[in-house]
Amino acid sequence: MSETIKFEKKLPIKAKYDIIVCGGGVAGVAAAVSAAKRGCSVLLIEKSCILGGLATLGLINTFVPMCNGRGKQIIFGLAEKWLREGAKYGCDKIPEEWENGEPKEPTNVRYIQRYSPYIFALQLTEELQSSGADLLFDCVACEPVMEGKICRGVITQSKAGLEYYSCRMLIDVTGDCDILRRAGVPTVVGESFSTYVGQMISLESCAKALEEKDISKALGKIAGGEINYFEEDHQTDISMRLGLSTEKISNYLIRNQIEILEKLQSSDRFERDVVRLPMMPQIRTTSHLLGDYTFSEQDAYKHFEDSVCAINHFGRRGVLFEVPLRALCRGDYPNILTAGRSASAAGYGWDILRVIPPAILTGQAAGEAAYLALHSSTGISGINIKKLQTNLERENVMVHFPDDYISSED
Ligand SMILES: Cc1cc2nc3c(=O)[nH]c(=O)nc-3n(C[C@H](O)[C@H](O)[C@H](O)COP(=O)(O)OP(=O)(O)OC[C@H]3O[C@@H](n4cnc5c(N)ncnc54)[C@H](O)[C@@H]3O)c2cc1C
Repeated sequence: MSETIKFEKKLPIKAKYDIIVCGGGVAGVAAAVSAAKRGCSVLLIEKSCILGGLATLGLINTFVPMCNGRGKQIIFGLAEKWLREGAKYGCDKIPEEWENGEPKEPTNVRYIQRYSPYIFALQLTEELQSSGADLLFDCVACEPVMEGKICRGVITQSKAGLEYYSCRMLIDVTGDCDILRRAGVPTVVGESFSTYVGQMISLESCAKALEEKDISKALGKIAGGEINYFEEDHQTDISMRLGLSTEKISNYLIRNQIEILEKLQSSDRFERDVVRLPMMPQIRTTSHLLGDYTFSEQDAYKHFEDSVCAINHFGRRGVLFEVPLRALCRGDYPNILTAGRSASAAGYGWDILRVIPPAILTGQAAGEAAYLALHSSTGISGINIKKLQTNLERENVMVHFPDDYISSED
């Protein structure tokens, strides 16, 4: 048996919140903004120093398509708002067909958008700030404090040491369900390709940017291993189960950083520079919730009574889904929710659900659900689903996809 230590410490309650959101990725910001707008007290805890998670720190910079591939928009709500705001300051244009909203005529052009990750992060800070939610940067949510299956609060670690914040509802959007797993909530450990791609500039790329008057042309990619964003060429000696082991994560980062350094050695140091490296592991999953419902690809075209948003397959035209609230929670844990890439899903269904636009929508839904659960004597299971859906629709979310969007070709 390995040696153990017992660690006891009395902590005062630093502050009390209605809702604590752990993790400031896109799902977390959406959850916090959506709950705070309802007037309840919300604390968002983010371990890094900017918001956005993989969508900013992880240098991912594309909203995958938010339409059915035939000119009908499916994903609205905060995802649409943020796509359009990102486009205002970023260096990419919304496709012409979609510039003024849904095109009048059917089109194969997809509603997709690249953005500048760091500028988007600043926009998320502003969005959160104006929602009224409190934000702690550079602060790690460490341990949930449980009373049976009810979460009473979260212990954090920051410059101030260990502190305790109490809450009535907890939303774990750490991306990996870390807080829920530590609370004993059933989770599923997933396998994932691990990418390590940063951005660089060179004299050549800068000249091209100048010539084309397009700053985005100045940025090129530099990768550690040969793996690309499409999961090809994974380093075979690197485990696909990384995220639950600090040593494995560190080794993957060390190895990729050294590989980048080695690649740089063969180029002229006055002709290039590395401008951004991923500030969080570019890992798609390590673990996610085992919820009351496990969303899967087989759910295509199904309507759910407890749907919280309609989403589309980002890779296949015409394929539509609804996401049930049950994929974000478990009935036996009345005050706990998740969203984003830690929602309950399996196989390729998980890939469809985890990408940025659906992650924002499930975050928005989790925030709204948490707010409604505050007013229910049985927590999440007592939420009036119709009210939840009406509130989300008021915030411009498509809750059910129209059946006439389904074509016989699909
Ligand atoms: C290589 C790669 C390529 C991708 N490409 C695309 C793409 O092109 N388009 C697309 O739409 N999607 C893409 N995705 C998926 C997408 O980026 C993510 O699934 C999505 O951004 C997840 O958002 P999230 O908020 O659920 O989680 P995350 O972005 O992981 O956010 C979690 C946040 O929680 C914080 N956190 C974690 N633990 C703690 C803690 N204990 N205390 C406090 N804070 C904590 C983190 O710092 C982070 O900010 C890609 C993903 C990867 C890995």
